[in-house]
Amino acid sequence: MNPLCARCGKTVYPTEKVSCLDKNWHKGCFHCEVCKMTLNMKNYKGYDKKPYCNAHYPKTSFTIVADTPENLRLRQQSELQSQVRLV
Ligand SMILES: [Zn+2]
Ligand SMILES: [Zn+2]
Repeated sequence: MNPLCARCGKTVYPTEKVSCLDKNWHKGCFHCEVCKMTLNMKNYKGYDKKPYCNAHYPKTSFTIVADTPENLRLRQQSELQSQVRLV
């Protein structure tokens, strides 16, 4: 049984398979979420189980995910915690 591509949902055959981030991808489907640059095992950065290129990998100061009140609350909490650790 061949797995399905996490991007396009079509069957991935072993010759074109990239296994990454607990998922399987076509080589051509394994690209940056933002700029669509094709990535490989060496240069991808995984975030939230999605591949990003070096330039678009979400840093803590930059999110492309919408800030829901719940997300904001969680972030403030973890910021507080990291401040405590620093002091
Ligand atoms: Zn695909
Ligand atoms: Zn990119």
